[in-house]
Amino acid sequence: MQRSRNATPSLVPAVPAFAGCADGTGIVFAAIINIGMMPTSTANAAHSGAGKYACITIGVLALQGDYEAHARAFTSAGAHTVLVRKPEQLTGLDGLAMPGGESTTMLKFLETHGFFAALQNFVAATPTFATCAGCILAAREVLRPPQRSLGVLDATVERNAYGRQIDSTILTLPTELPGGPLEMVFIRAPRITRVGPDVEVLAYRDSFPTLVRQRDLLAATFHPEMTSDTRVQKLFLDMVLARKLRRA
Ligand code: GLN
Repeated sequence: MQRSRNATPSLVPAVPAFAGCADGTGIVFAAIINIGMMPTSTANAAHSGAGKYACITIGVLALQGDYEAHARAFTSAGAHTVLVRKPEQLTGLDGLAMPGGESTTMLKFLETHGFFAALQNFVAATPTFATCAGCILAAREVLRPPQRSLGVLDATVERNAYGRQIDSTILTLPTELPGGPLEMVFIRAPRITRVGPDVEVLAYRDSFPTLVRQRDLLAATFHPEMTSDTRVQKLFLDMVLARKLRRA
């Protein structure tokens, strides 16, 4: 892996302990759980402190790929989620998830109705979580073969770098996240082969980054939405919350 300059990995952005919804929606969320109106998985997520995310709206880019799994994961972590299929649906979101899937297909959809430029502007200005195909879309440079991308993540990404669908795998690897190693689902995964100086690496597979953060942009080459471990979603929601608090 090439690196332009050493960046020290660090932990999640510090979100003040009091962080939560200033408008009291967290309290309403907690009340709903108490009267038993919520599925157990959601309630468990909420009991683990998820009520603080109830004021957050995450858009999930829903052109192609496993956007529904992302929406479920963010909903069970306690955030409000919206599927985004048109550029105008980006308005008012606190953050966006760009899912895994097939980046070439997503690009085809994005290249109509001015969506590409709208998304590029949005991602440059708003917290975004990019997984797998989403990470390919976000990268500054895409190889194997080269393709157009939003260019917001200062990284070089090689598509399908671990082989074909049959070479997909699940590995439990160390990360910088609190709570120890993380199960990572790799599906025709890309490989990050270069990161710029502003990119922190939070996890590696061999010596290649699998989870990276560049300010308000979080990107993974694996699929956190496919496991029951919500630490990556919560890291992103904490980034979104920190951003909201900076603006308040
Ligand atoms: N191989 C896909 C691509 O090039 C990405 C695979 C995935 O998102 N799991 O877009």
